Amino acid sequence: MGISEAVEAIQERIHRACVRAGRKPEDVRLMGVSKFHGLASIEEAWNAGIRLFGESRVQEAVSKFPDFKAAHPGTEIHMIGSLQRNKAKIVAGGPFDAVQSVDRDELITALGALTGDRKNPLIILLEYHTAEDSKSGYPDLDSLFRAAEKALEFPGLALRGLMTMAPLTGEEAPIRSSFKAVVSARDALAIRFPANDWSCLSMGMSGDFEIAIEEGSTLIRIGTAIFGERNP
Ligand SMILES: *Cc1c(COP(=O)(O)O)cnc(C)c1O
Repeated sequence: MGISEAVEAIQERIHRACVRAGRKPEDVRLMGVSKFHGLASIEEAWNAGIRLFGESRVQEAVSKFPDFKAAHPGTEIHMIGSLQRNKAKIVAGGPFDAVQSVDRDELITALGALTGDRKNPLIILLEYHTAEDSKSGYPDLDSLFRAAEKALEFPGLALRGLMTMAPLTGEEAPIRSSFKAVVSARDALAIRFPANDWSCLSMGMSGDFEIAIEEGSTLIRIGTAIFGERNP
């Protein structure tokens, strides 16, 4: 299956999951996770309608995307991998529109200090640790509250919601409960910080995106099911 057929097949599955969940397909954004894939594949995905791409390594994104973005207006890039503080400057000034993998307060402070004069604020999501086998993310609601409070101090940052990685397992129950935990954390944050827009829930990957949609995901991050296996 080529990339355009794969994108079409995913869109069909998104549609069916939305019907099951009583949701509108246009409320779920499809990200193509293009890490370890070259510009030819990215262009194919763009031609198939993908406008949002995810990258997990700063250097790789910076080497691929600035020219591509200039040639393809409307393209959006999100950082989804763990980010070292010494790369914050590149992220704040580079091709990125958002960082979904904000997982500690020192990163908020670093990004906040570097984004004051951006044309558009840098969108951030707080990564919530909901699976034992995942290494990153804020561990609990208290730490999310503190992170939100900090993020909201910076005019160059636009905090828009939460991101998570569910456990990598074939079992549905733990995956579903991971997504439910994110929704309930988001609801608690929205009560505590009601003036903020908390509309983005980034959850669901190739293996679990239908469950994520049923649980309320608004952004699914699909790599393998669009681009095929990665060769790091
Ligand atoms: C690689 C990656 C994905 C995509 O995973 P697939 O299983 O290939 O769809 C999604 N989210 C994050 C954070 C990733 O690092």
